[in-house]
Amino acid sequence: MALTVDNLTEWINSFAQKVNDQKDYLSELDTPIGDGDHGNNMARGVKAVQESLENKKPAELTDAFKQIAMALISKVGGASGPLYGTAFLEMAKKSKDTTDLGELFAAANAGIKKRGGAQVGDKTMVDVWEPLSDQLAQGSLAQEDIDKAVNGTRGLVAKKGRASYLGDRSVGHLDPGAMSSGYLFTALIETEGI
Ligand code: ADP
Ligand code: MG
Ligand code: MG
Repeated sequence: MALTVDNLTEWINSFAQKVNDQKDYLSELDTPIGDGDHGNNMARGVKAVQESLENKKPAELTDAFKQIAMALISKVGGASGPLYGTAFLEMAKKSKDTTDLGELFAAANAGIKKRGGAQVGDKTMVDVWEPLSDQLAQGSLAQEDIDKAVNGTRGLVAKKGRASYLGDRSVGHLDPGAMSSGYLFTALIETEGI
């Protein structure tokens, strides 16, 4: 159980694979309650992340997190780009003091909330990041928890982002950013040795 540049890279490559496999699905989720681009945004971002890590192998975890953050910020765009970017920038900062996943994710989640102003229950990626970061800290994160958090966004009224323009009509749809965040957590728990 230790985070290294190598297993971080494995984790991110696995996330990239899931985003690419589910690119159309993520954009479909974003169609009724958004502008239909989330899959394309994320696929563009993870491609840039993989190119960055291949072109320049990071020497330290902090550099790796920074490279990931910069690629996401410059290539994802939309609302989700700066939020994912902030998450990884906060992990970069935190990784100077600790490699503990619970602490890294707590810092990332706090950064997302500060940057986007969303709270749990607002039908955003925070509805995945917050509970799952807590479970990571307790060392007990399982796929069923991830599914529960993602599916939990279906019944919520969106209070932030484009989906909030729909008000009550956003109920009944999964939040696309919650789904893509779910893939990030699934990729994490599937990566051996982290
Ligand atoms: P855009 O809405 O600009 O097209 P994306 O489609 O890539 O951007 O991302 C939409 C996702 O971003 C939403 O599903 C939601 O999870 C997340 N999101 C949007 N606004 C916020 C916010 N203020 N705080 C947290 N997450 C947000
Ligand atoms: Mg969108
Ligand atoms: Mg958009």
